[in-house]
Amino acid sequence: MTDVPEITLNNGVTIPQLGFGVYQIPPEQTKDATLTALEIGYRHLDTAQMYRNERGVGEAVRASGLAREDVFVTSKLNNPHLTRDDQLASFEQTLAELDLGYLDLFLIHWPLPTVRDFVETWRVMEEILAGGKVRAIGVSNFEPAHLDRLAAETDTVPAINQIEAHPYLTNDTVRAYDSEHGIATEAWAPIAKGKVADDPVIKGIAERLGRSPAQVTLRWHLQRGDIVFPKSVTRSRVEENFALFDFELSDDDLAAITALNTDARIGPHPDAMDRVTT
Ligand code: NDP
Repeated sequence: MTDVPEITLNNGVTIPQLGFGVYQIPPEQTKDATLTALEIGYRHLDTAQMYRNERGVGEAVRASGLAREDVFVTSKLNNPHLTRDDQLASFEQTLAELDLGYLDLFLIHWPLPTVRDFVETWRVMEEILAGGKVRAIGVSNFEPAHLDRLAAETDTVPAINQIEAHPYLTNDTVRAYDSEHGIATEAWAPIAKGKVADDPVIKGIAERLGRSPAQVTLRWHLQRGDIVFPKSVTRSRVEENFALFDFELSDDDLAAITALNTDARIGPHPDAMDRVTT
């Protein structure tokens, strides 16, 4: 039993609104960190080919004793897979690394418009979906102009757009585009890599409610409708980040956090990310 709400995607698949992200967890620590999250109650895991830790995620799910269908697993296509054959082979590699039989969600990690036409990449994602080994496909770091091209030139609306979003980059234009087009928004770096812990406004709300700044920020996301998956290798924080369902933020508190926006990014703007990174 978990209190985590489920969001229904545009193809009927459901995803837990709160999950666990594993970016920057070293491969050799990923199994243990992920098992801790599963023990605490997380049922949604976010990894990527680029993180080089898919294997540890799969090992943790298998070691947890949970039924495969009770855990939602996302991975992302690495940027350097530039041809259809590379892309198909890399998906097979992801399936092999995870060793869970199938994947729940596969995303294009970055649009990289100057590196490869992302519409072509998306058509291969459609082929992968049709192959039956993934339940939903989506994108990450796509701006409205990128999504407009997919809408005009392909048949499948992405189920998800995973974008940087936190109190300093509310990213509301992209979020609004997503919701108008039936695309669910996932917020990466939801607690701005831990920076919210030092924010006076967020700390003030947290102290008044007897919560931590991370909890208040994650609650803000949930009440806005974002799907989130904070990362931590610290058990007490993994527990803290899951304890979000016995309090609520008022409209005033939500507005005060939203007002912290300065459009300040941690990562590159998607249009500035024009090279292949690993
Ligand atoms: P987060 O905003 O989740 O912040 C993680 C950092 O915050 C870590 O340093 C962690 O420290 C610290 N932290 C975690 N919980 C707390 C807490 N309760 N109080 C104080 N500090 C805390 O950043 P991420 O970049 O990890 O984003 C989350 C996930 O989003 C990633 O793991 C990944 O799955 C995804 N992502 C996707 C990207 C994309 O391009 N699609 C890009 C970046 C991330 P510690 O671990 O030491 O406890």
